[in-house]
Amino acid sequence: QCPVPSDIVISRSCVPKPIEHLSKEIGIFPDEVELYGETKAKVQLKIVDRLQAQPNGKYVVVTGITPTPLGEGKSTTTIGLVQALGAHLKHNAFACVRQPSQGPTFGIKGGAAGGGYSQVIPMEEFNLHLTGDIHAITAANNLVAAAIDARIFHEATQSDKALFNRLVPLTDGQRKFSPVQINRLKNLGIEKNDPSTLTEKEITCFVRLDIDPETITWQRVVDTNDRFLRQITIGQSPTEKGFTRTAQFDITVASEIMAVLALTNSLEDMRQKLAKMVVASSRSGQPVTTEDLGVCGALTVLMRDAIKPNLMQTLEGNPVFVHAGPFANIAHGNSSILADKIALKLVGPQGFVVTEAGFGADIGMEKFFNIKCRYSGLRPHVVVLVATVRALKMHGGGPKVTAGMPLPKEYVEENLALLEAGCGNMKKQVQNAQLFGIPVVVAVNAFKTDTDSEVDLVCKLAKEAGAFDAVKCSHWADGGAGAVDLARAVEKAAESPSSFKLLYDTELPIVNKIRIIAQKIYGADDIELLPEAQKKVELYNKQGFGNLPICMAKTHLSLSHDAEKKGVPTGFILPIRDIRASVGAGFLYPLVGTMPTIPGLPTRPCFYDIDLDPESGNVVGLF
Ligand code: ADP
Repeated sequence: QCPVPSDIVISRSCVPKPIEHLSKEIGIFPDEVELYGETKAKVQLKIVDRLQAQPNGKYVVVTGITPTPLGEGKSTTTIGLVQALGAHLKHNAFACVRQPSQGPTFGIKGGAAGGGYSQVIPMEEFNLHLTGDIHAITAANNLVAAAIDARIFHEATQSDKALFNRLVPLTDGQRKFSPVQINRLKNLGIEKNDPSTLTEKEITCFVRLDIDPETITWQRVVDTNDRFLRQITIGQSPTEKGFTRTAQFDITVASEIMAVLALTNSLEDMRQKLAKMVVASSRSGQPVTTEDLGVCGALTVLMRDAIKPNLMQTLEGNPVFVHAGPFANIAHGNSSILADKIALKLVGPQGFVVTEAGFGADIGMEKFFNIKCRYSGLRPHVVVLVATVRALKMHGGGPKVTAGMPLPKEYVEENLALLEAGCGNMKKQVQNAQLFGIPVVVAVNAFKTDTDSEVDLVCKLAKEAGAFDAVKCSHWADGGAGAVDLARAVEKAAESPSSFKLLYDTELPIVNKIRIIAQKIYGADDIELLPEAQKKVELYNKQGFGNLPICMAKTHLSLSHDAEKKGVPTGFILPIRDIRASVGAGFLYPLVGTMPTIPGLPTRPCFYDIDLDPESGNVVGLF
């Protein structure tokens, strides 16, 4: 019998301190906080200027071995470690985590606030709407989508003159360009501010984006696992006069605007990124941007609150920033640069900021370094690699692990041979972290069925693999007290020398960058570019986007592209099906094999258990 109650019962049993008190306690001024009720607040960006001269704290990134579909406890460990560093070792400590998508919350995986006695509270606030950032992203994204199709429609049904008169309307008897239109003219090489001086040719150029519908890469989004939106036909009402086309929805957390939010360094920077997003090509092969559509100012307005990090707390009263939530397999999988930067200032030089990178080290950690750190300029001190006995047994050849099904007996009985056979995956992921020159501490997230011999074996093999240290932790069952050894190991590792390096230079050709990740991180023999990907390499080189970093969209369930291949797959060629560009966010994303960009619901989704208790008004059934 497990003595640990359900996550929501634990979360509710703890009375959070008023968020106003917490923000004061950690040095945020009252005029820098915007309260959203008693337990959540947004922090204004002006704090960045105030704290500019303050030295940064120690920066720790939590990653993991290749997980089972159940998750191996990275979020739980992130929170447990901060509780240990803060509440037990008395450091200033801050956790930075992603806001969960409602797709998994109501779908297969459930919430993402950590678990057991290591959680962000109140977990129902955390897991549901929070302060509406994801909704703002959905709204902004879909405004762009609406703008694209409406623009194609208007251009097709109106003359140049009619378009011009509507795009530059008469106000008080005069036509005037808006600032965004002046920018568009500049981009077209037309240095004119007075609409009456444009030639006919210039007018055609100005009013016609001439979007080639075949090249539209911008999709509508929704934050629900709605698989029936993977392919749709839009424009079927007679009012659209036959302008139908096949389109699709992606999940909001895989959208470029989510990535922009996560990778931005300031409001001005976000505005520029939101203007640079490429949505399609024109028929002559020129990239069409959100600035060309005239929508970037409106996007900035929609996102102006979302850019402020959300402050919450752990069960033991430590501060947590919850900000941005890109998926890790089909997006870059890391919380926001801004939250990390503010937290690093707030904790001061002796403090610790623990941030989490999604899924295994081959996915979230690689993108943490090569994308997030490249853009933030921040250099981490320690990598914490979470390993579990159950996932290692799966890598050793154990039976399939399925969410919602009881674990097969191999996972609940001692089996050292199976465990040892799977430790190769941990070794490879330790080596992956070491490629970046940062010390690695392996955190063995212990489950109640793990035996001491099993945990000892994992620790021994982790150290043999080159980890700085490897420790057992029980923060799920014991809260921060269960991660004190881990916290001490992290303290020591943070003092040890490191020599941070990125894996590739962005100036390398696109194909070389992809090959470096495939060979060095995944262990592939080589990559194979399928025709669509080959075409995109040529297009992006021509359009001048060849020097962006790479964000691989790959399954998280294997080091390879095949989710069924566990352990350390070798002798495989990584197929690159297609490549997309998130020019505003600043990366190219190759699609490895087939990766759905919106998940589906299982037969029995998590929503079956979720309800509102009519007596107390409390949410029940979130775990
Ligand atoms: P990840 O961030 O790696 O996906 P989570 O921290 O979200 O994983 O944990 C996945 C699930 O496993 C959560 O429901 C969490 O409560 C549970 N969990 C994590 N660690 C343990 C543990 N040591 N014992 C039991 N359940 C755990």
